[in-house]
Amino acid sequence: MLSKAVASAVSTTLTPTTTSKFIGLKRVSCVSSFSFSFKWNNSFETKSFKCQSGGSRMEKFVTRASAAQPLKNADELIDSVETFIFDCDGVIWKGDKLIDGVPETLDLLRSKGKRLVFVTNNSTKSRKQYGKKFETLGLNISEEEIFASSFAAAAYLKSIDFPKDKKVYVIGEDGILKELELAGFQYLGGPEDGTKKIELKPGFLMEHDKDVGAVVVGFDRYFNYYKVQYGTLCIRENPGCLFIATNRDAVTHLTDAQEWAGGGSMVGALLGSTQREPQVVGKPSTFMMDYVANKFGILKSQICMVGDRLDTDILFGQNGGCKTLLVLSGVTSLSMLQSPNNTIQPDFYTNKISDFLSLKAAAV
Ligand SMILES: [Mg+2]
Repeated sequence: MLSKAVASAVSTTLTPTTTSKFIGLKRVSCVSSFSFSFKWNNSFETKSFKCQSGGSRMEKFVTRASAAQPLKNADELIDSVETFIFDCDGVIWKGDKLIDGVPETLDLLRSKGKRLVFVTNNSTKSRKQYGKKFETLGLNISEEEIFASSFAAAAYLKSIDFPKDKKVYVIGEDGILKELELAGFQYLGGPEDGTKKIELKPGFLMEHDKDVGAVVVGFDRYFNYYKVQYGTLCIRENPGCLFIATNRDAVTHLTDAQEWAGGGSMVGALLGSTQREPQVVGKPSTFMMDYVANKFGILKSQICMVGDRLDTDILFGQNGGCKTLLVLSGVTSLSMLQSPNNTIQPDFYTNKISDFLSLKAAAV
């Protein structure tokens, strides 16, 4: 049931025109704020209301997105942009298996002069290590075309002129260490702290390096209490120490049998102990998008972001002002996309990127 106050706010802010058909209203959440998804003809509209002073005052924020359209004319989309940014897992490969038709699709796009960029939130590998993975799968992709969140963390530190005499404490895997090393930053932590234990005795105090000026947190299969405490001490006690997250993904797909706790769980631990919000450098933050656009000198309106996740890939594209294409070859199903609970609508959706080939053939 909607409260009277909310119902009143809705009725005063939404007046259907005679050409609009009001299809539905859904209350999505209710804590100290409310948001609703409306469907008008073929468009979704989300309205959020923040309650203050026990709900006596409401503020209204409006976002609007058209319902995603099935991709029917691939050439039209291809011709409308100069760069395609692809997410990797669920788009290019699934685990260690290449998705059908990917090499031919990438060849087609290159033959049309399109720039291809590959972006992943997975920070466990460096650009070079991802290059090897592409090679193993038979894809000829240069390191310059790969942007992993491990690279983004080092690129972010470079972009803010992080002092070379300061150190970075890493909670994460090898990819972050490799990228920091390439960028010339001093670091400590990472996998080698994965075996460290704390033996609590009366009066025990953990020492930490006062020269640590940034803590970078990424997905870490060797996460432990030692790392949480070390990172917490750096952030809380070293003046000006930065808290950087490669991503805040809730879940990841270590195996295809279930979803596993993602990088957001490690970030959440530090957030809990420091009460600080991290600077996120991976999707859906626009840092990597801005970086790619600046590096190649391209307009973001000339980019199409292709991904399999709504809350990272599609939001990343939309936050950056790009066109967006959802592929259903990964974690998002058509029913999830079309669920009334989903308010993130890409411009287009299709089954897999090789539909570019068949939709093109059908259009000829
Ligand atoms: Mg993906």
